Amino acid sequence: GSALYIVATPIGNAADITLRALHLLGLADRIAAEDTRNTGQLLARYGISKPLVAVHVHNERAAAERIIEYLQAGERIAYVSDAGTPGISDPGAKLVDAVRTAGYPVIPLPGASAVATALSVAGDWAATFTFLGFAPTKAKQRAAFLQPLAAHPHALVFYEAPHRIVETVRALGEALGGERRILIARELTKLHEALHCCTLAEGPTWLEEDANRQRGEFVLVVEGAPAQPHGANEDAAAHDGLLRLLLE
Ligand code: SAM
Repeated sequence: GSALYIVATPIGNAADITLRALHLLGLADRIAAEDTRNTGQLLARYGISKPLVAVHVHNERAAAERIIEYLQAGERIAYVSDAGTPGISDPGAKLVDAVRTAGYPVIPLPGASAVATALSVAGDWAATFTFLGFAPTKAKQRAAFLQPLAAHPHALVFYEAPHRIVETVRALGEALGGERRILIARELTKLHEALHCCTLAEGPTWLEEDANRQRGEFVLVVEGAPAQPHGANEDAAAHDGLLRLLLE
């Protein structure tokens, strides 16, 4: 019956499309896409030709109304974003809200996502994490955004674009301290894929040593705040008091 299918697509390597995604795209009556040209090319590769409808950040609410009309007409609709999983730093979430509110099923088709891909090779220090997407781009707003995260015990995961990578890694060091680990994951699943793990203090220098290290798409995974031993402050205060007493 009619339903909205949220379909993940590759984040670089075309072979990361899933069999289920191809099957569903072949079955759909209509495919909603963040960029109809991009998605048209993806579909052409698999010989799939379907009516396309644009659903992007600038029209998501209005487009959702149209999608609901198609669902009312009994259609099966697939939604794909430009790359990876829709709704993760990509349009799709407002469409999901509108369609669920209208009473139609929303069905996820999992697949590639840059955040999960980077975390899969981060290691045990990033076992619990908070995903923050893109940090604010203006220095003041970014500092205000990062400052309260300094005490957060989870690893922090960010997306970043090439032209801001150095200043963002530097800002992370300033806000969180230079000693923490960072995993810089670049061009995941692509030809120039590279993973580099270092401290936040070392990050900017490493990136600046070679312009190639600043090219492409990035996921940054930063170690969380060191765990505070339970009741550490109270213990320290008690010891101070005892010491003073003994000295007296
Ligand atoms: N929806 C996508 C997902 O599921 O990962 C994310 C879309 S967001 C607009 C694009 C950002 O995701 C890029 O700027 C980059 O930070 C990250 N990204 C996407 N593909 C990547 C890749 N192959 N390697 C590293 N980061 C990537």
